[in-house]
Amino acid sequence: MKATYVSQFNYTRENLSEVLPLAAPFVVYIEPSSFCNLKCFYCPHSLPESYRSSSIMKLELFEKICHDMLQLPKRVKKMRFSGFGEPLFNKEFLAMVELASKLNVADNIEVITNGLLLNRSIIERLPQLVDKIIISVQSVNAAGYAKYSSAPVDFDAFIENVRALSRCSEKRSIIHAKIHHLAIIDEPCGKEKFESLFENYVDELFIEGVVHLWPETPKHSCMDNHHRFSSEKLKFEVCPQVFKSLQVNADGRVTPCCADWKLKLVVGDANSASLEDIWNGEALKSLRIKQLQKLRFTFAPCMSCEMNETCEIDNLDKDVESIIEKF
Ligand code: SF4
Repeated sequence: MKATYVSQFNYTRENLSEVLPLAAPFVVYIEPSSFCNLKCFYCPHSLPESYRSSSIMKLELFEKICHDMLQLPKRVKKMRFSGFGEPLFNKEFLAMVELASKLNVADNIEVITNGLLLNRSIIERLPQLVDKIIISVQSVNAAGYAKYSSAPVDFDAFIENVRALSRCSEKRSIIHAKIHHLAIIDEPCGKEKFESLFENYVDELFIEGVVHLWPETPKHSCMDNHHRFSSEKLKFEVCPQVFKSLQVNADGRVTPCCADWKLKLVVGDANSASLEDIWNGEALKSLRIKQLQKLRFTFAPCMSCEMNETCEIDNLDKDVESIIEKF
């Protein structure tokens, strides 16, 4: 196998302005764990622990979410295991993925992981169950992990585990390895090292920009002021996330996006309400109206959020007058 360079970003999409309002979210993000084993300098996990309490999603809650998804009036395009923490921190992660796959909850099921907690049972099953496994690589050696992620790692074991994913029998997953560009430019022959580690074992490779993704965190001078997946510089007055996605956090609280890591925009609780009721509820409706009124820069965390500028292309700004009539 020789991997191709392609970003994890899906540029094939409907024109969001034309299809709003959606009967169901396009994407449901699931956070199996808000704990992480790394403290990457660009992530809130590098900040003092008091910033947010962490939790692990219970399997019963996840099962309810799956059934909620199947009750939605329109099929969800993507379920992505991601969020504020490392999904594999949850001991029931594999059971969750087995369930999502068996129930066929979405057109695509994806996982983003740092890959450091891969174990034999996950390696043997995960590539059979999900459409894409995105491995978030922080460096091409252990010293880089200490530098960027303040964590000691068994780098050789990590590489061997990632390579073993590709040897899984009945593999269904695309395996995508991405690394942030500082880890490449700070290291002599960094790109060549990244390629030699992964290109014969994964399907896709990519070098991503280091962007300021998390509102209310320090913006470091080494961060890029352009899109994470291209050199474009984009502007957004209206946040499209609130119109197309739901993030179910580990404790069940639901927010419209993963950027809201302090959970200031909770629009419901999946423990007690259905995803359909949350999707059509007053809290999310009011947030959508505020976005369409271009009030984004008047309230936290949206006022300091750069998620759209760095990771989005669906732009509703010029269509607000026609969209607001539909809400
Ligand atoms: S502006 Fe940022 S924080 Fe606010 S809803 Fe959109 S993605 Fe979330």
